[in-house]
Amino acid sequence: MFSSLVTPHNALFPRDYHACREQFVASANRAPKILSRRAEACPASGPQGDTLFTDVVWLGSDGASKVLVLISGTHGCEGFAGSAIQTAFLNQAADTGWHPPTDTAVLLVHALNPWGMAWSRRCDQDGIDLNRNFIDFDQPVPANPGYLTLRDTLMLEDSLDRESQLQHYGRLHGQTALEIAVSGGQYSDPSGPFFGGFRKSHGRLLMEKLINEFTLGEKQLAVIDLHTGLGPYGYGEIICDHDPHSDGTRVAHNWYGDAVTLPLAGTSSSVPKLGLMDYGWHAIMDASSCFVTLEYGTYGTGPLFDTILSDHRLHAAGEIDWSSPRCQAVKQQMRRHFCPPDRQWQEMVLWRARQVIRLALEGLQH
Ligand SMILES: [Zn+2]
Repeated sequence: MFSSLVTPHNALFPRDYHACREQFVASANRAPKILSRRAEACPASGPQGDTLFTDVVWLGSDGASKVLVLISGTHGCEGFAGSAIQTAFLNQAADTGWHPPTDTAVLLVHALNPWGMAWSRRCDQDGIDLNRNFIDFDQPVPANPGYLTLRDTLMLEDSLDRESQLQHYGRLHGQTALEIAVSGGQYSDPSGPFFGGFRKSHGRLLMEKLINEFTLGEKQLAVIDLHTGLGPYGYGEIICDHDPHSDGTRVAHNWYGDAVTLPLAGTSSSVPKLGLMDYGWHAIMDASSCFVTLEYGTYGTGPLFDTILSDHRLHAAGEIDWSSPRCQAVKQQMRRHFCPPDRQWQEMVLWRARQVIRLALEGLQH
């Protein structure tokens, strides 16, 4: 009797950047009230020499004073779930004739880091983690002494050896210090994980361009950046990296309720981090706006680091032979970790996204 509640979601989760893009564009072309759609070319190509794009869709009137911004693929390979959410959103709009409420628009940014999505990597073509890149590059870059201490350990092939050395560091300095050393952000090692860059990344420049062109600094904003790989399996955590005592946090609690977690208050699966994209948006937001990360858990932090580090070892070793069994094994592991090929996980992703998007749109109306 419940079969009508179950939709075949697998089709929304192809394992390939181009298939995701085709679906997204086809759905955007069907949805009502699409004011503009454009493709921003990525300066680097995919594994087959193929051209890659970030697609940008504006739904609703261009004069709207309230804007919901939905971003996928900030961390390339996390874009498979984000793309499914955006395509499902557009499909729902197309199927029901839904359009944004009065004075409200929806901006969809599909595959902010298309290179990472095509190559199944978190980082971009310059090795930059976009979500560590939003720092002031006119100042000296931040130091992460813990990363320097652990760098060689992180690159160890032997996972047991690596794990025991990391645990030793954790016992000496605490678990949070360990996570900050590894994933908090580092600005010295382009081949290593969580590298924030030496300058603004392509994705950051593109995001700044969109903020200017759509005059988003003059709007009331609900920004949702879609991520995967951290936290309990299938759960969509609403992470708010605004200061706990800020307007942004107050707004996030008003809109999304007590489920909102705060890294700066120690209540999140995520630890405080350097250079988050959030900070670029916080700087242009008014007191009635907020930025949240919707982060879907998969297989836990240990496997997360294992997976990312094997990808970094693969790329640090030199030119990639894309079709080689070793490369394909690592890439399959990346896709599996960041977008489990499991129908239940996929359904949880879509259900939660629908709820969070609805709360954001309701929040913007009050
Ligand atoms: Zn992420």
